Amino acid sequence: MKDKFYVTTTIPYANAPPHIGFALEIIQADVVARWKKLLGKDTFFLTGTDEHGTKNYQTAKKQNLTPKEFVDKNSGFFHELAKELNISNDYFIRTTDKKVHWPGVVEMWKRLEKKGDIYKKKYEGSYCSGCERFITEKELEKRKCPNHPNLEIQKISEENYFFRLSKYSDRIRKAVEKDELKIQPKKWKNDFLNLIKDGLTDVSFSRDKKHLPWGIPVPEDKNQVMYVWCDALTNYLTGIGFPNKKYEKYWPVDIHVVGKDMLRFHAGIWPGMLLSAGLPLPKEIIVHGFLTVGGRKMSKSLGNVIAPLDLLKQFPADSLRYALMRATPFGDDGDFSEQALKDRHNNELADKLGNLVSRVTGLAEKTGVEKCENKLLKKLKLKEIEKLFDNYEFDKVLNEIFAFIDVCNEYAQNKKPWETKDKKILYELLDSIKAVAVLLWPFIPSTSEKIAKDLGFKVGDGKFDEIKKPLKVVKVKKSEILFRKI
Ligand SMILES: [Zn+2]
Repeated sequence: MKDKFYVTTTIPYANAPPHIGFALEIIQADVVARWKKLLGKDTFFLTGTDEHGTKNYQTAKKQNLTPKEFVDKNSGFFHELAKELNISNDYFIRTTDKKVHWPGVVEMWKRLEKKGDIYKKKYEGSYCSGCERFITEKELEKRKCPNHPNLEIQKISEENYFFRLSKYSDRIRKAVEKDELKIQPKKWKNDFLNLIKDGLTDVSFSRDKKHLPWGIPVPEDKNQVMYVWCDALTNYLTGIGFPNKKYEKYWPVDIHVVGKDMLRFHAGIWPGMLLSAGLPLPKEIIVHGFLTVGGRKMSKSLGNVIAPLDLLKQFPADSLRYALMRATPFGDDGDFSEQALKDRHNNELADKLGNLVSRVTGLAEKTGVEKCENKLLKKLKLKEIEKLFDNYEFDKVLNEIFAFIDVCNEYAQNKKPWETKDKKILYELLDSIKAVAVLLWPFIPSTSEKIAKDLGFKVGDGKFDEIKKPLKVVKVKKSEILFRKI
């Protein structure tokens, strides 16, 4: 039996089309998934959208849409993004899916309740009468609603259900400390442990239906609707079939990929729910930073928000995938700009990789090749690359692969096979391009597949070992241009 591997993104809130920050997350998760697939693991990759909540309900109203129509539209953009970016997700979960998602959420609630971990208490929150909804602390700007700065924020209290998260504080802390629930990179583990040093507090788990009309009803209580935690976090189980037994094939999840602002919920509330429900904890959470644009924070007021679906009208998906992974050190913020994307497309993908492939295949088509030992391949630091992949240091993986592409280009420059017609040199170069294409598959899959097709080898699921198998000599045809300059 093949090893199992399960990886997820968070599910973004379907209130607007995706911005570039989520593209970073889903590409990072796709590189993880494709790396495991390349190694031959039976991999399941889940993404989706979080669609309930008063904010969506109110925005829909303003746009004269039903909430369902509104979230269908927005969820559609995320679905489109996954498709356009060539993401290899195996399923796309939607929290409004009553057939796939709701039964598992209700089952989760009932398990926590049965354990005695759900109780009623007064909840007090900041309410904006303009938005007709509770505003989270994070959304407030100078204690005012950002959309209604002239209205006073009201403190409204109501009876809600709470989840007894405090009960699981110590167990969660120990699991994180001992890496049973591993948080990577380390600085985020320390950050989280510091955050919970005084213990986790119970969390509000529902809202009065009149304040949250768009969501999953609390079982046996018509006046209460589940708040985001039980509704959204449970997607990681319902997306693989929970409560149907088949979820056990992939649970516990190997990796949750999350943004740094989402860590506390995934390392705190979610493990608490799982412990209460008697389910195994996630094995690992990997954390990414945010993207700045030309060194500045992205925001609507600065007018520098980047929509990935717009970029994809100008640039190939592989270029965007590559540029985002190259620009973002693991766990840190990355900087992104359209100019940087263009430069990487032109100077790295077209000039370095594209030129190498087109020059070598062009010559090989004319002169033919002769099989020999590939000494050039020894310059590829394969062991190091594997280690970097396993540590999710994808920017460094790309540095190493492109350092080898430089070596190949220099080798061609020095040996001048276009003058010498040396078929062995051409074989070494072609065989090295094969290794490059295999290693680049997680990052730029469609380019990698094009190269594989032209050179007559297979890339993708379980094909990592192609790197070590000498390339079969076939009649080579000059590759079409991989990256047209922009
Ligand atoms: Zn408001």
